[in-house]
Amino acid sequence: MPYYNYEALREQARGYWPHIHLSLAPQLEEALEKAPRHVSCPVHGGRDGFRLFKDHTENGGAMCNTCGSFPSGFRVLQWLQGWDFPQTLGAVAEVLGGSLPDIRPVNGNGNGNGPAKGRDDERLLQRLRQTWRDAVPLQDEWAQPARRYLMRRGISAATINSTRCRCHPNLAYFVIRLLPLLLK
Ligand SMILES: [Zn+2]
Repeated sequence: MPYYNYEALREQARGYWPHIHLSLAPQLEEALEKAPRHVSCPVHGGRDGFRLFKDHTENGGAMCNTCGSFPSGFRVLQWLQGWDFPQTLGAVAEVLGGSLPDIRPVNGNGNGNGPAKGRDDERLLQRLRQTWRDAVPLQDEWAQPARRYLMRRGISAATINSTRCRCHPNLAYFVIRLLPLLLK
């Protein structure tokens, strides 16, 4: 088993916990979408005893009023998946080793109060504009698979033919999932 340096991995994971958790623990999807609101616990159920910590993007922590408090994203994964610590480190390292989007969520918890706000916003905006420019209109011959997919999902022709919708040749799935979270 390869050796993972916990401290280094924790630093690497900082700011990427929504992506890591969506990849490794999809049962957190509702909590991620509704954060910081309380949702039903992914383990014991109930009505609204579970929530992500305010700095979840940075550190990954969460808590359930019944199951307990999990101060780091690693601990959350151990709890949800029943993994031991080395297993958890390996899984997180694997996700981080893939192609992460070059987008740092705006200032940690996304409230944008920190000093680096302007720079981060600018980078994010540039990256989004570039992504848009790299995409092709859905009328493009090349975008046919995307068009077919949207049609089968019941998306209206008006939307598919709108210039506001494009197909990107090489966007990882999680980027699409994450954008609403990042732009909140
Ligand atoms: Zn619980």
